[in-house]
Amino acid sequence: MKACKGCSASVRLGTDDLYEIIKEAERDMGEGLVDGELYSERLALCRECAGLLYNTTCKYSGQIVYVLAKDKDARCPEPGEGKW
Ligand code: SF4
Repeated sequence: MKACKGCSASVRLGTDDLYEIIKEAERDMGEGLVDGELYSERLALCRECAGLLYNTTCKYSGQIVYVLAKDKDARCPEPGEGKW
């Protein structure tokens, strides 16, 4: 029986994988990146949020917050007003 790729893949990312994902996102976003200060502020809110899963992933969007928070046009997807 073939295993479902989505179910068998680990949802926990290692540091190296996370680093590569962030670097690739930075290359793709180019001018759309936030500055370091805003990035840190957003991540501080994510780290305190009950919606953060596995220390990496937003439960509302399924996105890696270290990537989501880099996008100038992104907003926190928490229902209601969002945290940032
Ligand atoms: S709901 Fe907002 S603050 Fe919470 S983890 Fe997701 S993006 Fe971050």
